[in-house]
Amino acid sequence: MGRNLNPKCKQCRRTGEKLMLKGDRCSSPKCAMVKKNYPPGAHRVKGKPRRTEYSLQLNEKQKAKKIYNLLEKQFKLTFDKAKKQKGDAGENLLKLLEKRLDNVVYRLGFASSRSQARHLVSYGHFTVNGKKVNIPSYQVKTGDIVKIKESSKKKKIFSVLSEKLKKMEIQGWLNLDREELTAKVLHDPAKENFEMNINTPMIVEFYSR
Ligand code: SF4
Repeated sequence: MGRNLNPKCKQCRRTGEKLMLKGDRCSSPKCAMVKKNYPPGAHRVKGKPRRTEYSLQLNEKQKAKKIYNLLEKQFKLTFDKAKKQKGDAGENLLKLLEKRLDNVVYRLGFASSRSQARHLVSYGHFTVNGKKVNIPSYQVKTGDIVKIKESSKKKKIFSVLSEKLKKMEIQGWLNLDREELTAKVLHDPAKENFEMNINTPMIVEFYSR
């Protein structure tokens, strides 16, 4: 399984936006976008570089890809699938990205970042409808029950979850039992559940060139 191994903070600095790739650190003063809000490189470029339409679209696509922690091939395959579905391709794309099991694990607060969620799913710590699923791209559907495996609940990363989850607001399309660490998918995610700062028409334009 391919992974994006580029340093996360550099990905944010290159995009010029906080992509929240490092969990709690992203909301702290240690965030590199607070300390070094300019593109990485030996020579700091003064002022904003001039952007063409193409580079803006490319940047938007790269941003979405980084936020959801996918490589180009995986992202393009998801876009192609979204395009074949009825309705708006951009909206379908975000829906498919949100319904990935690794994203659901992140949205439920079981992991502090999508990359950590992907790691935990790959290691087989979750079940869907009682069966172990270790495929991060697995698409959840309405009625699915996502659960931390009983044998995994004792692991340190999960044993401290209850306290953290008490303070966390969970999106309305997911119903979480904070005691049992089990969640039900109530329906598809809606627009308000998507990452807000992604301009999907630009991504559609990019792939339509
Ligand atoms: Fe991006 Fe988070 Fe690093 Fe800040 S701390 S630059 S938001 S990955």
